[in-house]
Amino acid sequence: MSHPNRAILVSACLLGVTCRYDGRSKPCQAVEQFLRQHNLIAVPICPEQLGGLSTPRLPCEFTHGDGADVLNGSGKLQRQDGAIMNDAFISGARQALLLAQITRCNRAILKERSPSCGVNAIIRNANTEPGCGVTTALLRAHGIAVTSDEQLPEIIIA
Ligand code: SF4
Repeated sequence: MSHPNRAILVSACLLGVTCRYDGRSKPCQAVEQFLRQHNLIAVPICPEQLGGLSTPRLPCEFTHGDGADVLNGSGKLQRQDGAIMNDAFISGARQALLLAQITRCNRAILKERSPSCGVNAIIRNANTEPGCGVTTALLRAHGIAVTSDEQLPEIIIA
């Protein structure tokens, strides 16, 4: 007999994990309530920590393109001190994908506007622009449905 997979990837900072660049979390009651309501088991991920970045860390933003562009080599992610950070973000995205595959997650709730986790919006050159983060782009490319913490009603629960 098959059982529905109740596991879902969730940006760890939304669950109260202090993994953000500033060493803080961004707990989201709506996400926690949503998980409870639908009896979902969160698999917390922080792609930036998974990519080897320290906490706290200097913030990064896109200077060219978005996460999909970083994956195809045409985008650029720059740290506040000018360092180009594409490799660490790609590495973190690959580790997040591996965790999704290990836990057989086919869906995710990720934090909007993050350079890793952004779903519909990212920060580019200090402006909020349409686009997605590097991890969202890689998860989507592997068939994982990614929803933003700001769009929970749109998620489909089997
Ligand atoms: S990479 Fe994602 S999980 Fe980690 S702090 Fe940023 S938004 Fe949160």
